[in-house]
Amino acid sequence: MNKQRTLIFIKPDGVQRGLIGKIVSRFEQVGLKIVGLKFIFASKEKIIAHYPETEAWFRKVGQRTLTNYAKKGLDAKKIFKIDDPVEIGKIIKGWLINYLQESPIFLMVLEGYDCVETVRKLCGETIPALALAGTIRGDFSHDSIDLANEQNRPLRNVIHASETPEEAKKEINLWFSQNELFDYERADERFMYGKKIS
Ligand code: ATP
Ligand code: MG
Repeated sequence: MNKQRTLIFIKPDGVQRGLIGKIVSRFEQVGLKIVGLKFIFASKEKIIAHYPETEAWFRKVGQRTLTNYAKKGLDAKKIFKIDDPVEIGKIIKGWLINYLQESPIFLMVLEGYDCVETVRKLCGETIPALALAGTIRGDFSHDSIDLANEQNRPLRNVIHASETPEEAKKEINLWFSQNELFDYERADERFMYGKKIS
């Protein structure tokens, strides 16, 4: 059975706004198990390694800006001087390093059946203005791409969550060592799943 682990961290806006407790309870109440947690200042090297250094990732991030600007009839060139999505993605990655070093970040490894998808659902859309009410980003933020880009910063969207099971494995290995991850039983597990899952 597909018992999975995934990684989240509460970004500096969430930490500095005092949202750690509220966010942790959302994962606990849905029945996900906390198997690791830590509160640290992230190094520049770790942040660079965390977000993929691939053309595909830069393109995705840059394209998000271009799509949003086109939708609003705005010109991304005014901010970035270029309109190549890959180059825009690289600039945004640079902004992410500053953002994620504003304060400590709060990391957790969560475990549960198909939990990568469940956790992404609980976090909501990347762009807070589009994140549905009821999700963490939808309930605690309303930032938008054009405001963020005009201020030369990334979207302040409270939380990070791994996007795929492969990314989750990579990110868990990056931020946690084996002896920081724990196996134990939650009291409600047998009632949530009917039977113990493996
Ligand atoms: P995360 O990886 O942080 O969980 P995500 O998977 O929803 O977010 P990604 O495409 O991986 O989104 O982007 C990583 C982060 O970079 C976003 O959460 C956001 O803070 C920032 N970001 C992404 N695209 C843009 C953009 N076009 N303009 C400003 N910030 C952006
Ligand atoms: Mg991502």
